[in-house]
Amino acid sequence: MPPIPGAGLAKGLAVTLRTMTKRTVTAQYPDVQPELPPRTRGVIGLFEENCTVCMLCARECPDWCIYIDSHKETVPAAAPGGRERSRNVLDRFAIDFALCMYCGICIEVCPFDALFWSPEFEYAETDIHELTHERDKLREWMWTVPEPPALDPGAEEPKEIAAARKTAEKLRAAQAAEEAEAAATAQAGQPGQAAQAERPTDAAGPEQPKQEGQE
Ligand code: SF4
Ligand code: SF4
Repeated sequence: MPPIPGAGLAKGLAVTLRTMTKRTVTAQYPDVQPELPPRTRGVIGLFEENCTVCMLCARECPDWCIYIDSHKETVPAAAPGGRERSRNVLDRFAIDFALCMYCGICIEVCPFDALFWSPEFEYAETDIHELTHERDKLREWMWTVPEPPALDPGAEEPKEIAAARKTAEKLRAAQAAEEAEAAATAQAGQPGQAAQAERPTDAAGPEQPKQEGQE
């Protein structure tokens, strides 16, 4: 069958028309910021207060791009006669994002919830050395970490929240018991004071114990 003249042109125009009516998927970055999913692996934030310098993240990192320095400090005993304790103090925590492969192992293995993913990704540098982010910069990334999503209805309560709730309940119960004891002591003390006040006016006085041979 001989080709119909202009069929190719019509086919091409049909494709153009179909594409024109479709929703555009081209992101106009950087004029328009992309809407990233909350679990985007952009950069790693460090919540320094939670870090115990256990070194687990640095040991497990397949790229060896986490640098941690620390020293030990002696903490005096909390009570007299108690034992002195030693604790690790963080001196340096840095991640080299020029080496990092964004596997997330460090975040997974951290037992103290000190590392988090942030969706921030605009930290390109012209000097590769600038891609080593020190602890101050890693801390700044923490403020860009999104809130965790809400739990499913009926999901098990997180361990940390359950422990905090139990401690708060215990403290409340202990406080209530103390208040009840104080109120009971105050109530018991009032009649005693009244009896003491009556005693001097009692003419007979308290009954004396009988001496041996006395009838
Ligand atoms: S994301 Fe992976 S490669 Fe990057 S610092 Fe963590 S463990 Fe290392
Ligand atoms: S695993 Fe967590 S607590 Fe341990 S050194 Fe790394 S960030 Fe700190």
